[in-house]
Amino acid sequence: MSADGPDLVVAGAGGGLVGALRAARHGRDVLVVEASEHFRRGNNTSMSTAMIPGVGTRWQRDAGVSDSPARFVGDVLAKTKGTGDAGLAGALAVASGPMLEWLADEIGLPLTLVTDFRYPGHSVDRCHTIEGRHGARLLEQLLVAVRSSARIDLLVPARLVDVRVEDGHVVAAVIEQPDGTREEIPTGSVLLATNGFGADRSLVERHLPGIAGAVYHGSEASRGDALRIGSRLGAATALLDAYQGHAALAQRSATLVGWATVMHGGFMLDLTGRRFGDETTGYSEYAEALAARPESTGWLVFDQRVFNLCMSFTDFKETVGAGTLVWADTPAELARVTSLPTDAVVAELAETAVAAEGSVADRFGRTNFEQALAPPYAAVKVVPALFHTQGGLVVDGHARVLRQDGVPIEGLYASGGAAAGISGHGASGYLAGNGLLPALGLSFLAAEHLGAPRPAPVEAPVEEGSR
Ligand SMILES: Cc1cc2nc3c(=O)[nH]c(=O)nc-3n(C[C@H](O)[C@H](O)[C@H](O)COP(=O)(O)OP(=O)(O)OC[C@H]3O[C@@H](n4cnc5c(N)ncnc54)[C@H](O)[C@@H]3O)c2cc1C
Repeated sequence: MSADGPDLVVAGAGGGLVGALRAARHGRDVLVVEASEHFRRGNNTSMSTAMIPGVGTRWQRDAGVSDSPARFVGDVLAKTKGTGDAGLAGALAVASGPMLEWLADEIGLPLTLVTDFRYPGHSVDRCHTIEGRHGARLLEQLLVAVRSSARIDLLVPARLVDVRVEDGHVVAAVIEQPDGTREEIPTGSVLLATNGFGADRSLVERHLPGIAGAVYHGSEASRGDALRIGSRLGAATALLDAYQGHAALAQRSATLVGWATVMHGGFMLDLTGRRFGDETTGYSEYAEALAARPESTGWLVFDQRVFNLCMSFTDFKETVGAGTLVWADTPAELARVTSLPTDAVVAELAETAVAAEGSVADRFGRTNFEQALAPPYAAVKVVPALFHTQGGLVVDGHARVLRQDGVPIEGLYASGGAAAGISGHGASGYLAGNGLLPALGLSFLAAEHLGAPRPAPVEAPVEEGSR
């Protein structure tokens, strides 16, 4: 690290680590400051299902998948009903392929393409993941690389509390130790990778009233620090009502059941024993739909085949291990073990079976049931949850934070939940993977923009006799 301080301070050791690693790759000295001692198991990247969209990757080519940035942007615009940021989505799509291939080849992430099922809204297979489909492994691998880099220092716990800007350019990061000691670190660049404001109750109540009553299942360190720091510096903010919800958090164990259950043919009942919509529209918007049902509680119903297919997910295995599933050999028995009205449960299993066979259209318009459920049936009691917020500081395609007049604050970048994302307003625009894509992708783009240090100017040789 030079006496003048690091070239880049990254605040937040989640997706921000990708930016740190990429900047180090460009020959930059980086300081990562992380507020929480428990970040390895507590931040959102570590909690995630590790599904990262990648466009035009070699894994897609190997699987014969034809994808393009235009196709990805089309999917984002369809899911957000035209309100997603097409420019930012395009920049992320273009960067995603080279980023994932670099993460695999140089950082050692053992990535594969998910081909066994497709999340709602993706028109082709493009989610990439790692063995176990869990973010803790993803983060651990990034940390191994960070720790072995001579150019990256990691300071934990230390919280970014301010950024000094002079003449429109970042000049220092202000960090605070847990004992309240503050230190000003000279630097020309700061990446705000501190996530959103999901853990700040008052901000959630103000901006996301529809999900404010639900369980918060995200990082406790997502307190809106980037929003406050950026706003103080005159940054523009957008989409503060945007968030990712999830309708399948197991009530008893507070673990994720996962939406692969639905995409493989499962469905959701409320406490009257009836379905209440097309579950395949998306797990994020379904959280608000479930929140509006009696007691904000439901039962996710599937069968042995779906169970077997979902065991590739660490979260699902944990849910099973926690003993939250009930099993039944008949529809009537399923009603008994779930304490739901028998007539309703029997009717739903019969109706979904004929819809799955295609003989009668589903009354909610659902077209994908994969196949009809067969005994033994499984069910798990679920509640809706808020996972993270998707609104924040407005950034351009280089992850530069923009002022309200559209001019970048030189040297200030934002990624992940700190930045306004590509999910439009509310919950329904969230396309699976569009949490990690801006988290990893914007931090990668910030490092690309920072680039390599400029070579020191070479002084012209002074010719003899010219003095
Ligand atoms: C259960 C679950 C499953 C998910 N699955 C997926 C998925 O499969 N695919 C997907 O795309 N998205 C998924 N998401 C969303 C995804 O996890 C997030 O969008 C993404 O991880 C956000 O990354 P981030 O870097 O912005 O934040 P984080 O990973 O939370 O990292 C932010 C870090 O900043 C630290 N911090 C906070 N304030 C400060 C400060 N002032 N100074 C220094 N450090 C600070 C925090 O401690 C934290 O370590 C999931 C979320 C959950 C909860």
